[in-house]
Amino acid sequence: MATKYVYSFTEGNKDMKDLLGGKGANLAEMTNLGLPVPPGFTITTEACRAYLSAGHTPETLDVEVTSHLREVEQTMQKRLGDPSDPLLVSVRSGAKFSMPGMMETVLNIGLNDESVQGLAAQSGDERFAWDSYRRLIQMFGKTVQDIDGDLFANALQALQDRKEYKGDLDMTTDDLKELVVEYKQIVKDATGEDFPQDPRRQMDLAIEAVFRSWNTDRARIYRRRERIPNDLGTAVNICTMVFGNMGETSGTGVCFTRDPSTGHSGVYGDYLINAQGEDVVAGIRNTLSLADLERVDKKSYDELRGIMQKLETHYRDLCDIEFTIQQGKLWMLQTRVGKRTPAAAFRVAVQLVDERLITTDESVTRVTGDQLTSLLFPQFDKSASAKVLTRGMPASPGASVGEIVLNNEQAESRVAEGASVILVRRETNPDDLAGMVAAAGVLTARGGKTSHAAVVARGMGRCCVVGAEDLVVDEVAGTVYVKSQDKTLHAGDVIAIDGTTGEVFEGEVPVVDSPVMTYISHGLEAGLAASPDEDTQELVYAVDRILTHADAKRRLEVRANADNPEDAERSRSFGAQGVGLCRTEHMFLGDRRKLIEAVILAETEEEQQAAFDALMPLQKSDFVGIFSAMDGLPVTVRLIDPPLHEFLPDLTELSVELAVKEAKGEEVTEHEKRLLAAVKANHEQNPMLGLRGVRLGLKIPGLIKLQIRAIAEACVECKKQGKDPRPEIMVPLIGSIRELQIVRDEAEKIIADVEAESGVELALPIGNMIELPRAAVAAERIAAESDFFSFGTNDLTQTTWGFSRDDVEAAFFNDYFDYGIFGTSPFETIDWSGVGQLVEMGVERGRSTKPGLHCGVCGEHGGDPVSIHFFDAIGIDYVSCSPFRVPVARLEAGRAAISNESEHISFAPATAPVDLAAQVTELAAQMADLANEIRKQDK
Ligand code: ADP
Ligand code: MG
Ligand code: MG
Repeated sequence: MATKYVYSFTEGNKDMKDLLGGKGANLAEMTNLGLPVPPGFTITTEACRAYLSAGHTPETLDVEVTSHLREVEQTMQKRLGDPSDPLLVSVRSGAKFSMPGMMETVLNIGLNDESVQGLAAQSGDERFAWDSYRRLIQMFGKTVQDIDGDLFANALQALQDRKEYKGDLDMTTDDLKELVVEYKQIVKDATGEDFPQDPRRQMDLAIEAVFRSWNTDRARIYRRRERIPNDLGTAVNICTMVFGNMGETSGTGVCFTRDPSTGHSGVYGDYLINAQGEDVVAGIRNTLSLADLERVDKKSYDELRGIMQKLETHYRDLCDIEFTIQQGKLWMLQTRVGKRTPAAAFRVAVQLVDERLITTDESVTRVTGDQLTSLLFPQFDKSASAKVLTRGMPASPGASVGEIVLNNEQAESRVAEGASVILVRRETNPDDLAGMVAAAGVLTARGGKTSHAAVVARGMGRCCVVGAEDLVVDEVAGTVYVKSQDKTLHAGDVIAIDGTTGEVFEGEVPVVDSPVMTYISHGLEAGLAASPDEDTQELVYAVDRILTHADAKRRLEVRANADNPEDAERSRSFGAQGVGLCRTEHMFLGDRRKLIEAVILAETEEEQQAAFDALMPLQKSDFVGIFSAMDGLPVTVRLIDPPLHEFLPDLTELSVELAVKEAKGEEVTEHEKRLLAAVKANHEQNPMLGLRGVRLGLKIPGLIKLQIRAIAEACVECKKQGKDPRPEIMVPLIGSIRELQIVRDEAEKIIADVEAESGVELALPIGNMIELPRAAVAAERIAAESDFFSFGTNDLTQTTWGFSRDDVEAAFFNDYFDYGIFGTSPFETIDWSGVGQLVEMGVERGRSTKPGLHCGVCGEHGGDPVSIHFFDAIGIDYVSCSPFRVPVARLEAGRAAISNESEHISFAPATAPVDLAAQVTELAAQMADLANEIRKQDK
């Protein structure tokens, strides 16, 4: 049987988004709910894929379209483009994921020189008919025939200027007829052909244009940014036209079933009298509010309110809606589960639970970790009156205040002097990194949300606003000129930027902690007390309810990566159930670097031992600090990991320094000579794969002996203080069971010694990291010597792919995104089909030797939402992430537990959920715009 390419609106439903696209699936759903949807049908995404691979439409598609069109014609008792009484249709794109503004819709298909007369006669409204015809040529020309849209817009504007009209409503029938002539000429000039008069040909060309638009540059760039797979294709909806431009009793509008920024239920939307759909968004005239619609057309308003309620009950979520009123008759043109701000997402989820529309489990799945993250950033104090200078695109959330600096040097020197600075650049490039690191925030005049500044700032968690095109940055003159205000700011002037809204303020704006953050770190009481208003209190309550439920449901434990007592305490207050990765290298840096240097340079055992002896009390007190902070909870201590040269001076620098000394005739000391020799000896071509991890511990056994003794003695000391220390000793970079055996034997001896010396019993688990493919493969053997596994997924990603992160990210990752080799960076989201398989194998093989072997993940993936779902699914026991990600991981682990029960999650990278963080910021921007619109209207 031939593939079915076309579905009538009566045949589909909301769960068929893959095939019918979001718009088509929901049009079908509304049709089946008995809502007034104009009749129509949907051409599947499969047809689009077939078209794109073959280069032409499948023949059976043409036939199917004909029969569905006939059906619509029969229902409507009109024929497409009939000269005396034409059926008109819209041709609308609609992919599985909404791609706003990417592929445009063509309205009024079926009009031509003859049927326009018929439409005029039938409607008794000549002006309306010609208005519809000129709209068709304009949209068709631009969207289907790729003619520069400005040509049409300019002709329209010129006509209005000529006649000194105030707007489109002033145009007469004759004006519109004149415009149609002009438009047709534009088409002829641009394409060399007349505007197509055959209605079916218009329709077919429009359908093909929608198919093709899937592959435009714009669409590809958008998909890449939003991580939408390239191979989905779009559906096409053919929908009977209804007319909002049929005079004063007609109009078109959009609305939400609840306020998408607060979540409160209420009337929320825009309506435009005597207009067609695209006019609302285009902002050609000021819109009315829905409350105004109630005044103008109570009957339609009441019906709309009823439908809003029905849709919300049916979808059990906030919906957004497009509707049109044709001479007092309401038509539904679109609905979908509406986008919302992060705060609204939490409030709505809890409201819906309270209204008994969804279960508490479901409420957890209605919010995301990324939404939670965005609620944790500090905010500007809303009560302060701040002057908005200009705005750009919100690229990385947060609120920061500081002096303007224009380059790295200024940034670093002012920060060294204790100032807070905002780095302002035309755009940034890798050379600006130092300035970005030093600055509290980054502001650029150019670039979008995927510009260098945006990507890097997000990576660093630095507040960032990009693309503030109102600004002219002159680094040489030291000025930032604000065009719209005709105002010049200078380096040193204070500004404030809001990375959630994109606003740029002049002068100091007070920054307050987010009440949600206060809640997370100090509990509900404190969070409520910190809330400035009822809405915020409601938000804090909502976050508490959802997070508490997620905690109750999750199987995964959440630990934090913390190297010092402060981080440990902070993460504990965020809900961490232990430290999953305590790195020890910092304990050898700073003043102590000299001691390690001494270890490396030592010529005799006594010399080396002296250095170890000096390090011992220092190490011990480090551990006492962190074990105390995590009293009663596990702390996984990783033995020294990085290559030795990281503790030594830089080879080139040292060589140059000594060469210069020699040249000047100055004396090079014996120590310096030995140092240079040691640096040379420890220099590695590829340090990532060199003398590091356990290899270092075997090469210089004294180092890890020292560490193990320090851990054991710290443990004794804590116990003597009445505490409950729970360290776990973790050996990095294990590849072979023998490596672990050697370390374990040594460690057990030392621990036994410490027990004997102190009379305190210690039970210290000794486990290892799995960060080499060999370790994952040999996990069955390694587990015999190991008390736990911790997957170091950063290194495992590097070693599995055979690339080093520092070298590849800048060098070719962008090309890999372009080629579609990566959907998301494998350092951000676990590459489930490669690296993830090794993790799964490691867990399975390890547990085949030791059933129930405790397995954790301590790479950055431990804080990544998608990866957390994967780890949950393969039976990992805990994830460990940076302290700030702990709340996110708690929530996502809860979501994973709940959704793994109810639905199958696919981890195919191609369909990996979109870049949530970017989506959230995007949304926040949209909502801010919307709020501004509303404010404007309120005035
Ligand atoms: P988008 O995906 O950009 O929302 P739509 O396909 O929804 O594009 O169409 C753009 C505009 O045209 C919307 O305002 C929509 O309501 C309106 N529209 C689409 N089809 C029809 C129709 N059959 N009759 C009247 N208006 C329509
Ligand atoms: Mg729409
Ligand atoms: Mg590692």
